[in-house]
Amino acid sequence: MNPIHLLRVFRCAPRILQTNRFRNFTSCQDKMASIKHKNAKRIEGLDKNVWVAFTSVAADPSIVNLGQGYPDIPPPSYVKEGLAQAAMVDRLNQYTRGFGHPTLVKALSKVYGKVYDRQLDPFKEILITVGGYGSLFSTMQALVEEGDEVIIIEPFFDCYVPMVKMAGGKPVLIPLRLKSSPAATSVSSADWVLDQKELASKFNSKTKAIIINTPNNPIGKIFSRSELQAIADLCIKHDTLCFSDEVYEWLVYKGHEHVKIATLPGMWDRTITIGSAGKTFSVTGWKLGWSIGPDHLIKHLQTVMQNSLYTCPTPLQEAVGQGLLREFELMGKPDCYFTSLALELEGKRDRMAAMLRQTGMTPVVPEGGYFMIVDVTALNQDLSHMGDDEPYDYKFVKWMIKEKNCLQNYIYIYIKQFEKYIRLCFIKQESTLDAAEAILKSWNKG
Ligand code: PMP
Ligand code: GLN
Repeated sequence: MNPIHLLRVFRCAPRILQTNRFRNFTSCQDKMASIKHKNAKRIEGLDKNVWVAFTSVAADPSIVNLGQGYPDIPPPSYVKEGLAQAAMVDRLNQYTRGFGHPTLVKALSKVYGKVYDRQLDPFKEILITVGGYGSLFSTMQALVEEGDEVIIIEPFFDCYVPMVKMAGGKPVLIPLRLKSSPAATSVSSADWVLDQKELASKFNSKTKAIIINTPNNPIGKIFSRSELQAIADLCIKHDTLCFSDEVYEWLVYKGHEHVKIATLPGMWDRTITIGSAGKTFSVTGWKLGWSIGPDHLIKHLQTVMQNSLYTCPTPLQEAVGQGLLREFELMGKPDCYFTSLALELEGKRDRMAAMLRQTGMTPVVPEGGYFMIVDVTALNQDLSHMGDDEPYDYKFVKWMIKEKNCLQNYIYIYIKQFEKYIRLCFIKQESTLDAAEAILKSWNKG
């Protein structure tokens, strides 16, 4: 029944309620309600989700939450004030341009024009969507075709596989492998590398794209220029696209450099780069993201946007745009939030690594991002009483919540190689890290 029809039914309600036709209609509705409708094939098997599973646990304020990746440090006050001010302007409480509010896309073109060292067309080469998730989703929906293969590097941010599948594509996985000896006391995310031969073997005539994530969630690896060049060479050789998730691009620690694969020769025309306001300004609840790329690709993402979400909230876009304009003026200076946040987080990263080492574990020290993974084998925690039908990391996280009042994340349970690793988020206030340290210390004694 279409909406106009429904409206008519409501207008004539008193009369209609008496008629046989209405009685027949309602009994037909009852029958329909009893029929179980099957899900669409494209979402088959995609009903499990780590974030959904832990939301209720994370809501408990007594839990030391190092699980879901979000800051409990305050976002910059000028960004919050920018939102309050935007909401006071009547015009900014109404719809704005569908593909991105002009203040925001122009600000992004300024910031990224500098980073890419090329002039970016704010209206044709940038699309604003709902978070990095929306940018990834519109990218896959717009460019991945039924039967296309998409290469994904393990371990990966969990939504890549379902998003490729929902677009009709086939995920082709390749793991990062640890190159140093497992007995090493200090492991860096840089020690996790791709085997070049193995990578080359994943490309074929069905390959549509490779997804890269640098800095990576969960390992914190920053792909070096030469690693990116090797990926770029394969993309060019096989004429594939590259979807580069760079939501943690500003969170880069001393001695490391974030390189955009889109800036390598021959890559701009075949790359969509994904960014997130939530990560940029520590406002994950704002859910604004962007895709940047050449006009000939972005226009397809715009088609998805105009026929799905249409536009994003105007005041949020205005506030993020104003915030970016401020950072643009400060880029390269210590006061720029891009720089100051990374510096603040580097201290927290080092504190977290030291805490884990004191407990006898070997953390993988990240070069970027705000997660750290750690191998929990050294704790020798016997979880056999929890049964054999679930992987160790999944059981470990459940056990930690119950016994230690602490939430971390398992690393996407189906990756065997990472079964003994858990992921911790360290963009947390010192008081949260103190509480985590107390838990780890008590463990040590035990
Ligand atoms: N990509 C990665 C690697 C992420 O960790 C996340 C989670 N924040 C996203 C994309 C999604 O970003 P957003 O919260 O802006 O949707
Ligand atoms: N990106 C965040 C993480 O990896 C959160 C994702 C989510 O909440 N869906 O923890």
